[in-house]
Amino acid sequence: MQQKRSTILHPEWGTIIITHNARARRMILRARRDAIYITLPPFATKKDVENALTAHGSKLKEQQSNIPERSIQKRFTIEAESFSLRLQQSPVRSLRLTGSSGAYTLHYPATLNFEDEATQQKLRSAINAALTHRAKETLPARLAQLAAQHNMHYTSCTIRSSHTRWGSCSSRGTISLSSYLVLLPQQLIDYVLRHELCHTVEMNHSPRFWALLDTLCRTSSKALRAELKSYNTLF
Ligand SMILES: [Zn+2]
Repeated sequence: MQQKRSTILHPEWGTIIITHNARARRMILRARRDAIYITLPPFATKKDVENALTAHGSKLKEQQSNIPERSIQKRFTIEAESFSLRLQQSPVRSLRLTGSSGAYTLHYPATLNFEDEATQQKLRSAINAALTHRAKETLPARLAQLAAQHNMHYTSCTIRSSHTRWGSCSSRGTISLSSYLVLLPQQLIDYVLRHELCHTVEMNHSPRFWALLDTLCRTSSKALRAELKSYNTLF
């Protein structure tokens, strides 16, 4: 299903990221560290959004302030199954990313001030670049492999830095995958890829969809889905 996304800077509630979802039945509001995320069903109006924010805004802001901001320091590392990253002081003038086969080193100059907010932003975007690099290197190939294995067909595959969804599949068969998938164990990555492939056959979450997914996973997909919920895209 096509999704339209817009970001607004609300005078009272800060950054709001709105996703229009044709399949949503009701409005969903979620607090994340970087913004309040709103999923909008068709026909919802600006006024509906304002009303919802008036009703739930302060609770969301409170939730938001309780989400720990893990600042990136010299000893920061990511150790996932197919992705690792560490920081290293090097004779560089600005941040520089090196690495291959999923093992990355982010080089920083000795003078870098880790307490500076702009620096933290730059560190995060460098880490995001590494995640996207690895995602592009591995996910489309794995998707093609699984599609061939299950004899399923999709049109194309795109990688996005999506915090809100691991993956999605449009009615045209375009599969979109979050770059943060590379932070997951392989069996969960495969679960998400198979999930999206099933949407090329069943554009819904009907019992038929889950039955098909169970067949592809060769097990009940329920356990995998529960396990996936214990992961998030924050690093
Ligand atoms: Zn789905």
